Amino acid sequence: MKLIAGVDIGNSTTEVCIGKKEPEGRIRFLSSAMVQTTGTKGTVENVHGIKTALKKAMSKLQMDPSELSYIGLNEAAPVIGDTAMETLTETIITDSSMIGHNPSTPAGMGQAVGTIITLGESSPLDPRTDYIVAASSEYPYEAVAQVVNQLAEEYSIVGIILQADEAVLVENRLKKKIPIIDEVAGIHKLPQGVLAAIEVAPPGETVQMLSNPYGIATLLKLTAAETKMITPIAKSLMGKRSAVVLKTPGGNVKEQLLPAGTLYFKGEQSLEISVDEGAQRIMETLKHAGEIQEIRGQENTNIGIMFSNIRKGMEGEEEIRISDLLAVDTLAPVKITGALAGETCLEKAVGIAAMVKTKQLPMERIADQLRQELKVPVQVAGVEALVASLGSLTTPGVTVPLAILDMGGGSTDAALITEEGNITITHQAGAGELVSLLIQTELGLKDRKVAEQLKKYPLAKVESLFHMRMENGQIRFVEESIDPKFFGRVVMLTKEGMIRLEEDIPMEKIVKIRREAKQKVFLTNALRALEKVAPEGKIKNISNVVLVGGSALDFEIPQLLMEELANYGIVCGRGNIRSVEGPRNAVATGLVILLNQKLEKDSGVW
Ligand code: ADP
Ligand code: MG
Repeated sequence: MKLIAGVDIGNSTTEVCIGKKEPEGRIRFLSSAMVQTTGTKGTVENVHGIKTALKKAMSKLQMDPSELSYIGLNEAAPVIGDTAMETLTETIITDSSMIGHNPSTPAGMGQAVGTIITLGESSPLDPRTDYIVAASSEYPYEAVAQVVNQLAEEYSIVGIILQADEAVLVENRLKKKIPIIDEVAGIHKLPQGVLAAIEVAPPGETVQMLSNPYGIATLLKLTAAETKMITPIAKSLMGKRSAVVLKTPGGNVKEQLLPAGTLYFKGEQSLEISVDEGAQRIMETLKHAGEIQEIRGQENTNIGIMFSNIRKGMEGEEEIRISDLLAVDTLAPVKITGALAGETCLEKAVGIAAMVKTKQLPMERIADQLRQELKVPVQVAGVEALVASLGSLTTPGVTVPLAILDMGGGSTDAALITEEGNITITHQAGAGELVSLLIQTELGLKDRKVAEQLKKYPLAKVESLFHMRMENGQIRFVEESIDPKFFGRVVMLTKEGMIRLEEDIPMEKIVKIRREAKQKVFLTNALRALEKVAPEGKIKNISNVVLVGGSALDFEIPQLLMEELANYGIVCGRGNIRSVEGPRNAVATGLVILLNQKLEKDSGVW
């Protein structure tokens, strides 16, 4: 039996396709498989993944990879995508403290300003001063209530801060109702004698005064300069149900530790731009620079460090250069020094995906190794974009002239094939990985895997054991009761069942951030890539676009692109390689087709 395997080694995924040559010369496709790429694309470490993928595909035919007649490897483009995130400023607030959190059961409501007195530390009190009592968990609720009731007979007690989760128990025993914040773990960090403002929001609402810089200024009587300094505190308290802000002497300082830095574009024109100017200006400048030879970042700045980290991750550092980048504006959480419970505030940041050009990837070395291990002839055949186009043409309803958009993990690649078979290609930095990174940072997730899942799956909120509210507002009822562990939680809906989101983030917020991340990366890049390959550089000269690659599997990206490209009169849709693979396997399939053509040319009917 004459069997050909096509192997596509991508940044993220290694895909294979197995085709059988029929006696009349036709290729019949029998099987396919994919695994995660092992090692950096284009290195001998890839061999391990290739063999696993081939084994998987051949075992579906009850065969072994050694029974293959030929293996074709893609001539992987010598570009590798990488992503990084850099905040533009680092916020340091000294001599100022705050607590903001969402205790499950605060008590009382409203705001109060007073001087902190700590239970157990005696100090002379003044009948003309307002006080806020801070009590550690050493004091049971009866004791706290008793002391406060007693003090209130002579002095003005306007609020209470508790370490224990006992606000309601204390409140029930108070003669006069005042706001109480509880579950403040770091209560011993509250300095006695310092002026503090506390706020407890009514049920279902969030703090209004302390999440507003002018609100804090009103309560703590701040100057204009001081108000500017506490803005990060106000920002970080948005959305909280209760909060404490302390005024500590010495004033606040906000400093920028490391400058964001300048980007240098060496192209048809040499241009530079400060990263501070934001993504839009960076991308405009990049475009004006024309065909890019190299992009550099100013040394000893955030951008410089980020670029050198990208280079460090690659083999043969000296020979690589950054040839394209995609910058997107985002918000990243920055730790506030002075926050008593590790609170963060969101600061402007720039997310960057970079495209690194290496010297020609040593695909022949991979081919040698495979030949030795499997004893099967191996050929490196065909430029990636060309074979991707051949594969995409197996999508029903597709014909030349045609543009394909290959949306992978690290890069978005485009190719345009004319009726005459001429092909133009481009590689743009930024794809699925950058989307996951943006989701991770903007939601402040510790784990990239969770961001990756949030990208892929639609959400729902389990509102009772028999129904959930889908992210589009629909209510779905279920026949059998939902496992109680999902009750009240945001869940991801996968084919294998629900995944519970451990973080407490409102569903609407996740949906908004997820959509925006996809738009920022893929809308920008689709237009950039298509403009590069379009006849006369005009997108409207393209008539059809087929979307392929892992990110084309996304449940909302293809629709985003279809809507956008409809504005240019373009027919656009997700590929369906060989009518069965969806947007996957285009390159591997194209390789089988190309290798067969080559073999026929070289040796007649092989
Ligand atoms: P490469 O060709 O560079 O190896 P792929 O074509 O395999 O890349 O695409 C990898 C990207 O596709 C990753 O960013 C991954 O998160 C994304 N991806 C894979 N499956 C899905 C899916 N079901 N929905 C959205 N994105 C997906
Ligand atoms: Mg790919």
